[in-house]
Formats: sequence, C-alpha cells, structure tokens
Amino acid sequence: MGEFLNFIDGRFVKGCGERFANHFPATGEVIGTIYGAGQSEVDAAVGAARAALKGRWGRLSVPERVDLLRKLADAVNARFDEFLAAEVRDTGKPASLARHIDIPRGAANFNVFADQIQTTGADAFEMSTPDGAGALNYAVRVPRGVIAVICPWNLPLLLMTWKVAPALACGNTVVVKPSEETPATATLLGEVMNQVGIPPGVYNVVHGGGIAAAGEFLTRHPDVDGITFTGETTTGEAIMAAAARGVRPVSLELGGKNAGIIFADADFDKTMEGIGRSCFANTGQVCLGTERLYVQRAIFERITDALAVKARSYRFGDPFDTATTMGPVISAEHRAKVLKYYEKARAAGAGVLAGGGVPESAGCERGYWVEPTVWTGLAQDNAIIAEEIFGPCVHLSPFDTEEEAIALANDSRYGLATSIWTENLSRAHRVARQIEVGIAWVNCWFLRDLRTAFGGSKRSGIGREGGIHSMEFYTQLRNVCVKL
Ligand code: NAD
Repeated sequence: MGEFLNFIDGRFVKGCGERFANHFPATGEVIGTIYGAGQSEVDAAVGAARAALKGRWGRLSVPERVDLLRKLADAVNARFDEFLAAEVRDTGKPASLARHIDIPRGAANFNVFADQIQTTGADAFEMSTPDGAGALNYAVRVPRGVIAVICPWNLPLLLMTWKVAPALACGNTVVVKPSEETPATATLLGEVMNQVGIPPGVYNVVHGGGIAAAGEFLTRHPDVDGITFTGETTTGEAIMAAAARGVRPVSLELGGKNAGIIFADADFDKTMEGIGRSCFANTGQVCLGTERLYVQRAIFERITDALAVKARSYRFGDPFDTATTMGPVISAEHRAKVLKYYEKARAAGAGVLAGGGVPESAGCERGYWVEPTVWTGLAQDNAIIAEEIFGPCVHLSPFDTEEEAIALANDSRYGLATSIWTENLSRAHRVARQIEVGIAWVNCWFLRDLRTAFGGSKRSGIGREGGIHSMEFYTQLRNVCVKL
C-alpha cells in the first residue's frame, strides 16, 4: 500500500484535506491512500514557491539551471523501473506502452527544455532619438514567478514534466496539482528533486480534487502568477474564470473530438497502422486520439472491416504482462461514462462493428474494462460524433469529395488535432491548411517534434506550448531602453 503525501518546501507532509483511496484500475483494488492538501497546505506550497524565487534558485545562471535539468532527466531514467511501476499501478496502462512513451518522454522533457533555454533570445532594436542621439532597446526574459501546474490522469508524468521542465528552465517555481486519480509519479518526482539538489520550494506537489479542494485552492490563490492546465474544456473554463481575478495568464490544453480523414488513394497498410493507434492507444484516453473518422466512399467498407478486426485483436489482462496490449480505463466513474455512450450509440441505431460492451476475457472480471468499439451509420449531429468520449471507440462516416471531408471535419466545437491519409501530396497540404485545428498530421499520428507549437483551436485550448512557445508562456519580456 502506498501513501501519497504532499511535497512542500522539500518535505513530504500529510494534509488537512480529504483522505481518499487510490485504486489499481485493472482490478479496482485499493493500492494506496492519498493525503489531500487543505487550504493551509496550498498556502504553504505557494509560500514556499514564492520564497524559493527569492532564494538561491532565483540567483542561478542559465547554465546552472540547465545542469540541474539534465540531472533531473538522468535521475528519472536511473529510477526508470520505479516510475514505470508507479505509472502502471495508477493508470492500469500496459507497462509495454508506458515503457516506450510515458517514462522516457517524461524524462526527456527536462533535456528538451534544457536545450531550448540555451538558444532562446529576445528582441533588440536601435533607434534614433529626437535630439539626434541614439537609443538601444533590448528585452530580457524574466521568469513569471509562481506557476500552478494542473494535470490530468491520462499521461501523468509526461504531461506534467511537459510543463514543469520549461517552467523550471525559465527560472520559475511550481506548485503541481496532479490528478486525484494519478498521484504517484508527481510524488516520486519530489524525491528526485531533493536527490539532485533542486532547492526546496522550487517544486511542490499538492494532492486532492478540483472543486472545493486543492485544485481551486491553487487556481484562486492570489500569489500564483500564472496557471498552466491540461484537462477537460469545462474545467478549463472554470480555471480561466479563476485566473481572471488578479489578471493571471493561462495556458489551456483542453479536450478534443479529433477527426481522421482517409482518402481512397491512401496507403492501406500505413493508414491502418496509424489509425488503429490513433483510435485505441492508451485505451482511447489520448487527447489527440481519433473518435471520428471520415473515409472516402470507395474504400469505406474495406477500412471499417479492417478497423473492426483491429479492435477485436487487443489482449486485455494484467498490465504488467508483456502480452497485454490494452488496459482498462482510469476509473469506475469514467467507465460508466464511456459505457453510457456505448448504450446511446446502440439506442440511436448505430451499426456496432466491434465491441460495444465489457470484455469477457479472464482477468477482466473486476476493474474498469471496456471493449474497443467501432460504429457506423450515425448522423453527423449525433452526440457520439459531437462529444468527447475519451474511450477506445470511433465512428466512421463515408464522404465523396474533398470539400465534403473538410466540412465534416470542421463541423465541431473542438479543434485540437487531425490526421489526413492520402498519397496525393498537393491534396495533403491543401487539406491540412483548411482543417481548424492546432495540429494536423499527414500520413502519421502523434509524431511529435517537441520544438513545434502544441495546442488547440476553438474549445480545445488557448495558447501554444513546445519549443519557443513554452518560453513565451513561462517568461515575461522586460524591455530596457538605453539612451546612448
Ligand atoms: P479534468 O478537467 O477532469 O481534470 C484535470 C485536472 O483538473 C485534475 O487535476 C483535476 O483535479 C483538476 N480540476 C478539476 N476541476 C478543477 C477546478 N475547478 N479548479 C482547478 N482544478 C480542477 O480532466 P481529466 O479527466 O483529468 O483528463 C481528461 C481530459 O483532459 C480530456 O478532456 C482530454 O481531452 C484532456 N486532455 C487534453 C490534452 C491536451 O493537450 N489538449 C492532453 C491530455 C488530456
């Protein structure tokens, strides 16, 4: 049984907030106790973060911070198996997946932003003044201050360090509020911070829920200078409202209802490999995942049949078993939500080509399992096509022309990502420019260069992170004008 404590000013402390159980999603069994932070722990964490800005951390040079970031990456990698086990126990995702994505990327983020900060500069302008003399304007980047980092449960370590690493690279301090479903890796990272000599107060973790709990205590805290959030759109709205008080900047990476578009000239094998992953990887709990697919009519049947075969090919079971290729969803509550959509689809008369229920395999008797599911036949305005389900499911609709495909893909309140599958290069560029999203992939999915802009349009978010874009959020420009 684990105990997940708050990490404040370099020390692990219990909290006066709610105490609750942490479950292993594959079996539902209780594996630990989470000690929620109350208002007083959140005050202490923000206070420690503020004090650290004024202490040794605030005086470190960029090379010194870079050195510490590299040590963090090395230390996470040195404790790779511990992070892996913690992530798998919290999420139930297959260890084979976390071994290739969550933990290596979770560690790599520190190196990526160590590189980035070393090459990030700012403006300089020379001007002539009315008296004929000159002036030099130059901008310096200063940290924003205390950053609140609020994270979801689907890729806990990876999404957290995606924000913590650039925040620290830029000289800020952070208070992290991990999801109440996945407290483990954020807590473990506290140990690593101490181990590599990050000064106390630079990285703090407060546990608990969102509403009337650690999440709100943090986002409403007047001494927080900026909030970076990944999670649902409705939560993003609440956080933006909280940030309005005190005029704090926000970076919001929110939900999606991503469309894939497959043209008849697509390479079948490449497409099926990419699309299969985009629909079902991480049990469909990826913000960038595909839940609506538009397929050109000539190949519609071939694609739907192949995707149904793919959906039926997954092996459920112990996430630590290397033969397991799909884990459960995160919680009983989330399973109930996904199964409600499965029921809605059936009631609306969808063709259910695969799945639609709960797997009957051995090992799935307990825990939060759902079947990968493939639907066809619903109208574009159906909730199954409009709303984010965040499960291993996809609806396929046929289209005839390029214009129609673009219109269908854009017919959404969300605008996070798309993937376009075609061997026609001109069409690929043309369509990619017209889909209203932050990220358009052509003949691939989730292929990430971390220097590029990441974020959503419409209700999928505000702002971009990644590379220089993260530097823009985690620093402020201070202009210095020197009359010569
Ligand atoms: P969620 O919005 O329910 O919770 C995210 C975090 O916010 C949790 O830590 C939660 O405790 C906290 N929270 C909830 N209410 C709060 C409030 N009022 N004030 C402050 N904090 C609050 O999201 P989730 O269910 O954990 O994650 C799934 C969602 O995240 C999906 O919608 C998915 O699309 C989205 N997501 C987006 C991206 C992206 O990059 N755009 C990446 C991953 C996940």
